[in-house]
Amino acid sequence: MTDDATPAHELSPEDAATIAAAVDAYAEAWSRLRSEFESMIAAYTPHFTAAVEAFRELYAYLRPVIDAYEADPEGFKAAIAAERARVSCHCLCGMHRDTMGICEGEAEPGAFLVIDSPTVGRQHIPMCRPCLTADRSRAHEVPSA
Ligand SMILES: [Zn+2]
Ligand SMILES: [Zn+2]
Repeated sequence: MTDDATPAHELSPEDAATIAAAVDAYAEAWSRLRSEFESMIAAYTPHFTAAVEAFRELYAYLRPVIDAYEADPEGFKAAIAAERARVSCHCLCGMHRDTMGICEGEAEPGAFLVIDSPTVGRQHIPMCRPCLTADRSRAHEVPSA
């Protein structure tokens, strides 16, 4: 090793400058990255907070349903099936115009008005009990003015 040669364990001034510049560039890039993330977090925080609040409300609405299911899963499923099986009364209530307003709105399970249509054959029309038993004998009379 001679006096004018740089010892292996020391950096040349050029290498030291290169490394110092790289460290500065790294620090600046990292600072910018952190700053961008802080901006993103600041921008998203209100939306995230609102979303969490919306989920809380949804959960509050669903909690009784969840409780009902957990208390009696089979009963809950049966209740849902019964609800899905509900059918509205399909009566044309004008056909029993003497007793308009008797309709209960919901068809009674198994209660059908059976008609034989010349075009589509026999039809089972779901009906509520009052509509099914209403008098249709005057259905085709023209109401007097
Ligand atoms: Zn009716
Ligand atoms: Zn009805």
